[in-house]
Amino acid sequence: MLVTNHVFAGAAIGAVLHRRPSLAFAAGVASHLAMDSLPHWGLPRVPESHALFLEVAKRDGVAGLAGIALLAGPARGIRSGVLAGIAGATILDVDKPARHFFDHNPVPAPIQGFHERIQREAPHRMRAEMAIAAGLLALSGLLVARGRSRSS
Ligand SMILES: [Zn+2]
Repeated sequence: MLVTNHVFAGAAIGAVLHRRPSLAFAAGVASHLAMDSLPHWGLPRVPESHALFLEVAKRDGVAGLAGIALLAGPARGIRSGVLAGIAGATILDVDKPARHFFDHNPVPAPIQGFHERIQREAPHRMRAEMAIAAGLLALSGLLVARGRSRSS
């Protein structure tokens, strides 16, 4: 699943669990595994897919970073929870930028293998992925706004 969607889900979780950042982190990790096991966009893991994957990954990475700024920036009073949720929800995907930029995957092999085995990817699901992004952005934006007003 796009890392941007994991960012939005993590922010929503963190906004709800902002008083317990370590629980927000753990719930973020759980959300990642749950979302990756649902049908989502992805390309066959063959060399011919690499250029297109990289093109999508660049945009997804920029969108994910923008999502972090958009949701954590205004999350005054609940920011540590929101960031903990986002960190948990995205940490399993660190393998992709780490391999690309440093030619090294810091994720332990058993965890990496499990993460790869649960994927339910197909190249025709980008529209669904965009719809999920829109819904999760709206949800996380509402939860951040609500958490912020309750914490002040
Ligand atoms: Zn993943």
